[in-house]
Amino acid sequence: MARITLDSVRKRYGETIAVDGVSLTVDDGEIVGMLGPSGCGKTTTLRTVAGFETPTAGTVSFDERDVTHVPPENRNVGLVFQEYALFDNMTVRGNVAFGLKMRGVGKSERRARAGELLDMLGIGEMADRDPTTLSGGQQQRVGLARALAIEPSVLLLDEPMTGLDAKLKARLRDEVGDLLTELDVTGLYVTHDQEEAMLMCDRIAVMNEGRIEQVGTPREVYESPATEFVSEFVALDAPDLPFVRW
Ligand code: ADP
Repeated sequence: MARITLDSVRKRYGETIAVDGVSLTVDDGEIVGMLGPSGCGKTTTLRTVAGFETPTAGTVSFDERDVTHVPPENRNVGLVFQEYALFDNMTVRGNVAFGLKMRGVGKSERRARAGELLDMLGIGEMADRDPTTLSGGQQQRVGLARALAIEPSVLLLDEPMTGLDAKLKARLRDEVGDLLTELDVTGLYVTHDQEEAMLMCDRIAVMNEGRIEQVGTPREVYESPATEFVSEFVALDAPDLPFVRW
């Protein structure tokens, strides 16, 4: 996978400055969380990395390649969005294999690769099911399998756990967190949920009003907040974080 570099990325919509000079590097194999309240610019930042938005200023690079003006379909990004619904006219396997089909991969290879990923995510036996018959958590795993099937250069996750119940979230956090580490995925993980960011991410970029206030490991932002805002935002009501990666 590729290293992601954002250099002074700025995005303005009319009077609104959604992203105000964000610089951030996500190293190869690292998951960096973008954490902050609603409206602070997380999704816009993610969308500039995906290529759905062109920054008003600044650059986005994957490894040494400047992709700022490269269209999304040529960036090889895997996307997991909360609202990124599965195709309900296809089986689970068909969903996972879809991106490979679009890339001209032959049927037997598609089937094999989709099957492997589904097995890895613990839903191999659901390959022939209609995705609408799966639970929310299972659907989310299919979404992840679909995103990973194309062997993306980077994985972008936007509030992927939203809409799932607390118990399932907790389980998926462990499982998916381990999986992302195991697969050596380079990813940006957008969330407004402090605990989720702490548990899923190697480092966290805390955003406020279009800017990054602090980037650090979960422990650093929690124990040594750089600003008042970070201190308040990261002061969770759940200080019991046994799984935090620190
Ligand atoms: P977050 O993901 O942190 O909730 P967003 O990136 O969605 O924040 O939004 C940041 C700011 O940019 C908000 O004030 C939002 O209203 C504004 N914004 C986002 N997208 C657009 C758009 N397409 N047109 C105008 N304003 C937008």
